[in-house]
Amino acid sequence: MNTVAHQTQPLEPGQGRLRLSIAIPLYNEEENVPELLGRIGAVLDELPDGAHEMVFVDDGSSDSTLALLERAADEDDRIVVVSLSRNFGHQAALTAALDHVTGTAIVVMDGDLQDPPEAIPRFLERYEEGYDVVYAQRVGRKESWWLRLSYFLFYRLLAGMADLRLPLDAGDFALMSRRVVDHIRRASEYHRYLRGLRTWVGFRQIGIPVERAPRFAGSSKYSLPKLLGLAFDGLFAFSVVPLRAAAVLGALAIALSTLFGIYSLYVKIFLDRSPEGFTAVILTVTFLSGVNLVFLGIVGEYLGRVYEQVKARPLYVVAKVVGRGSRSAP
Ligand code: UDP
Ligand code: MG
Repeated sequence: MNTVAHQTQPLEPGQGRLRLSIAIPLYNEEENVPELLGRIGAVLDELPDGAHEMVFVDDGSSDSTLALLERAADEDDRIVVVSLSRNFGHQAALTAALDHVTGTAIVVMDGDLQDPPEAIPRFLERYEEGYDVVYAQRVGRKESWWLRLSYFLFYRLLAGMADLRLPLDAGDFALMSRRVVDHIRRASEYHRYLRGLRTWVGFRQIGIPVERAPRFAGSSKYSLPKLLGLAFDGLFAFSVVPLRAAAVLGALAIALSTLFGIYSLYVKIFLDRSPEGFTAVILTVTFLSGVNLVFLGIVGEYLGRVYEQVKARPLYVVAKVVGRGSRSAP
């Protein structure tokens, strides 16, 4: 085999020696850190030797998350801590994590133990079979009924509207091969919906059912506006259906008003009557201006995204790296 090609091209899944990286963004998760470290450490201990690592990104926490992580990194050289200069949000923190992992296979997971680390060996089995992406299909969500219903509807709406075949009920918890991560990193999208980009890359992908546990401690760091923001990022990044809907609705309104025009002419000429109805006029005008404004807003959403993309600001700012990076520095 050509060794030069081997050095420059990422390995195919399951080939070569496994070096597993676990990438986790954390924002004010001090109550979860000790349990998280323990459970991930136990999973890594069971793997064949291979310089595995845990890459934690502290997304500008204001509690002791960073201090706990740094202390752990002093004791365990598998731990790398990337500290961001402020809170940049989950997807940006995840991007930072993917920029710092060095493994041949990379697991992305949440830091609140909703994604059970014990599922990782099952991911690895599929990876060894040659799958580039093994993602968790969430079963048994423990959130409130209205949140579960919203997730259910959102994933189906998005899947129906997206140009890509996005898997249903799959979050960020997944294992990806080196080459998939490298391709995701080439995507320069400012508003990132990583689970969508993961599908966009392609190769062989498979979902396995994984029980979505309740949060171990603390409360969700996704406020409703943040959650809606993520939903919109997914929708607008992977579909132009909302834009097309404006054209379709507009055409429909024109067709209706043409029909009504013909009817009005007919009754005027042959029956010498004019259609009446002040209420109908008001309703039609207010309804149609509402529709206009909604679509103006939708166009604005796309435009705002274009604007932010054009500014091309970095996605995050790193304050410091503790662990592998800092040790290898002179
Ligand atoms: N998170 C983050 N930055 C944020 C919000 C969340 O790094 O601005 C992290 C958080 O600490 C957790 C993961 O992203 O490890 C998922 O967040 P959370 O559990 O709050 O989301 P939910 O499960 O409620 O959707
Ligand atoms: Mg969570």
